[in-house]
Amino acid sequence: MNTNNTALRQITLPTRLPKVGTTIFTVMSALANEHQAINLGQGFPDFGCDPALPNAVHEAMQAGHNQYPPMAGVAPLREGISKKIATLYGKHYDPQSEITITAGGTQGIFTVIACAVGPGDEVIVIEPVYDSYIPAIDTVGGKAVPVQLIVNRDAQGKITGYEIPWQAISEAITPSTKMIMINSPHNPTGMVWESGDLEKLAEIVRNTNILICSDEVYEHMVYDGQMHQSVARHPELANRSFVISSFGKTYHVTGWKVGYVAAPAALTHEFRKVHQFNVFTVNTPMQYGLAKYLENADHYLNLPQFYEQKRNYLRAGLAKTKFQLLPSPGTYFQCVDYTQLGIPESELNSADFCQWLTTEVGVAAIPVSAFYSNPVESGVIRFCFAKKEETLAEAIARLQRLSKS
Ligand code: GLN
Repeated sequence: MNTNNTALRQITLPTRLPKVGTTIFTVMSALANEHQAINLGQGFPDFGCDPALPNAVHEAMQAGHNQYPPMAGVAPLREGISKKIATLYGKHYDPQSEITITAGGTQGIFTVIACAVGPGDEVIVIEPVYDSYIPAIDTVGGKAVPVQLIVNRDAQGKITGYEIPWQAISEAITPSTKMIMINSPHNPTGMVWESGDLEKLAEIVRNTNILICSDEVYEHMVYDGQMHQSVARHPELANRSFVISSFGKTYHVTGWKVGYVAAPAALTHEFRKVHQFNVFTVNTPMQYGLAKYLENADHYLNLPQFYEQKRNYLRAGLAKTKFQLLPSPGTYFQCVDYTQLGIPESELNSADFCQWLTTEVGVAAIPVSAFYSNPVESGVIRFCFAKKEETLAEAIARLQRLSKS
């Protein structure tokens, strides 16, 4: 056969996600590596986990736990999660029918959307919003309806914090609203929900069939003696919610990609239909290792103290600069306003400012504008403080030099 004249057919793939490029976290980490900058951008610890955790995984491997686990996850892990949620938030989830182990929080969120949202369904998201939500909604043909957190400012225009836009959320609801996505502690702002907030949300969705997707992956990082307001605490909300959490965040193993979704049996039933054909199962020895480690509650109960100290260390260092600190009551993120630095670069938009900060000052950060569907410029960037003290010290030294110049 003569193939010389046979031109290869040009195959193109119309994109499902025209607005999506590489995630800001990957972009900034690559830039940080290229310029040997201290990476306070992408949220991950630069310190190791407790060796007891990988040891428990190794033991599970040695004990022969190396084949497929049950689709929903191994029983001891689901039982441990059920016990933890009951103890902390007072709600019993049946490990058999209401808890599913996922390949990290992001997969859990994607599968929640894939099982619940269809073409034409509207999903309310609150911006700044974690970057995976809207692409997930777009992929399944749903319609993301963004509302924005209220930015509070003092008389001098300084940002003092964020507020949930209850009025805007109520007004965004239509007969097509299928779901509201919430996230406390909130990435990127660090804001946390307070107890009255659950009731306010319940009032809004009462007498509707609206589902809640509650991303609680930073549940164990709430500071200053406050309590995490899981939707699991509120029976009416729990009844219509998917609750997502992640072991990567809690146990300093973001690369392990193990999380879970807790939801009432009827919701979990539909969730698992999609889950089983998406990831099917999550790796077995990690699950057994995590189950063993979860038996000791101190491992997560001590986390607020551990991170609060890091947050305070970073804040004390930045307080000596002209960066303005926003409150950080939760997560491992600290947001700052850079517009008062008094240098020409403080006029840059936040994406350009972060590029400049990474390449010229040697500290990588994430622009909060990246968390809006149409970038909103508030002059705020996000630093991650899940870092060794020496890393934070060096970043602070570089940022302090900047303010003095
Ligand atoms: N959740 C992490 C952050 O906000 C990043 C995870 C990722 O890179 N996709 O920084």
